[in-house]
Amino acid sequence: MGSSQELVASLVRKVLEELTHDSDGNHHAGGGDGLFNTVNEAVEAAVAAQKKLIQMSLERRKDIIASIRKAVLENNERLAALAVSDTKLGRVEDKIRENILCATKTPGVEDIQPVAMSGDCGLTLLEYAPVGVIGALTPITNPTGTLINNSIGMIAAGNSVVFNPHPSAREISAQVVLVIHRAITDAGGPPGLICLVRVPTLDTAKELIDHPKVNMLVATGGRPVVDVVLRSGKKAIGAGAGNPPVLVDETANIRKAAQCIVDGASVNNNIFCICEKEAVVVQEIYDTLIKFMQETGKVYLLSPEEAERVTKLVMTAEGKINTSYIGKDVQIILRDVGIQVNDDCRLAIFRAPKDHPLVWKEQMMPVFPLVCVKDFKEAVEFAVKVEQGNRHTAIMHSTNVEHMTEFARAIQTTIFVKNAPCYAGIGLGGEGHTSFTIAGPTGEGLTSARSFTRQRRCTLVDSFRII
Ligand code: NAD
Repeated sequence: MGSSQELVASLVRKVLEELTHDSDGNHHAGGGDGLFNTVNEAVEAAVAAQKKLIQMSLERRKDIIASIRKAVLENNERLAALAVSDTKLGRVEDKIRENILCATKTPGVEDIQPVAMSGDCGLTLLEYAPVGVIGALTPITNPTGTLINNSIGMIAAGNSVVFNPHPSAREISAQVVLVIHRAITDAGGPPGLICLVRVPTLDTAKELIDHPKVNMLVATGGRPVVDVVLRSGKKAIGAGAGNPPVLVDETANIRKAAQCIVDGASVNNNIFCICEKEAVVVQEIYDTLIKFMQETGKVYLLSPEEAERVTKLVMTAEGKINTSYIGKDVQIILRDVGIQVNDDCRLAIFRAPKDHPLVWKEQMMPVFPLVCVKDFKEAVEFAVKVEQGNRHTAIMHSTNVEHMTEFARAIQTTIFVKNAPCYAGIGLGGEGHTSFTIAGPTGEGLTSARSFTRQRRCTLVDSFRII
């Protein structure tokens, strides 16, 4: 990370301190800024704010959402730099894209349009009502994207939200909340619509989950936290881990596939849950794909011996991912095994046997295994196995429609991307809205405002049908 980013980060920290502490250095927990010392204070503020929000017009709610989008875009570069310096994960230029995506392609109030059903018996109206106060647990990997995306969707649906962010994304999460909170109040919204527990821990997470005034839980993270919210007895959305395979068959446009895989697997140093985590490639085109990947100028092909050294570095003796290399630049990872690559390099790739641990683990770093298989049939069977039933994301490069259909049916993922980088599936260069809470385990898919509602029906018999 460059020194200019560190400077920005230290300035942001200073501003944050000033905003959250009085002249004697005491933190003011009043929550006028959305930051609270205790879970209970945050939840009480969120309860009061949500009551006020639902008394306001939908037009005012739209103004609030517009103000959030604008404020995020105005603060984008600062937030992106702090996200990287605080979490030590990802790339600033990709965080900037992440923030723009979330600010512009997260659906707002339009997502909760009511549905009317009219017939011989009259009219029935289905409305998407708020659930109340939402407790949201957010990941270290996307503190800006998830908070922006969740806030817009949850507030557009008429809720308030209390965030318990990942402890290692504490400063950036506080900064995002300050920006959004101010945007809400500037647009005439009530303070406390978005709240954050200033020093988040597993204890505060538990307190939030158990708090009687929290009506719904949303967990974005690994399987354990998803399991915790699903056991809570409350309405819960779980967006869990993935291990997305990218399948390349013999009919693919190989040069395009190579470029897309390099772009997708290296974005934000592979920390997005949707990133290609391993490739499954039919042998007929394997060598050509590697050649085209190298021709992008962004790839370093590891020899078998180098791949072994890198694997030993990034995995622990117990077979777990070494977290100190998650989200790091490829230059840093390779440097630590004595390999120098130029600044343009984004991804280290290697040919892996089927049982290689990095094929099966969600590595979240720019070290990318490719498995060579005999034919399409074997590719489908193996890709389904490595996805491990996460129902998360799969990517495919092919021009054979039957192959596409067969793989999509076999793998059953929430997101299935064809002939593009993974991120087309969350609306970056692909159609459709974005989401940074992709709920495979609980089935909401790419969550949006409507996911954070409860349905209410109003039936009027024999009237209001005008035809
Ligand atoms: P993580 O599961 O360690 O943490 C996520 C959040 O849950 C954090 O706020 C953390 O403090 C909290 N948490 C963790 N264990 C908890 C427990 N037992 N009780 C209460 N709270 C708990 O995940 P992470 O390392 O921050 O993020 C990376 C993971 O998140 C990856 O597996 C990635 O695939 C996944 N992810 C999924 C999505 C999605 O939309 N499906 C999006 C982003 C990240």
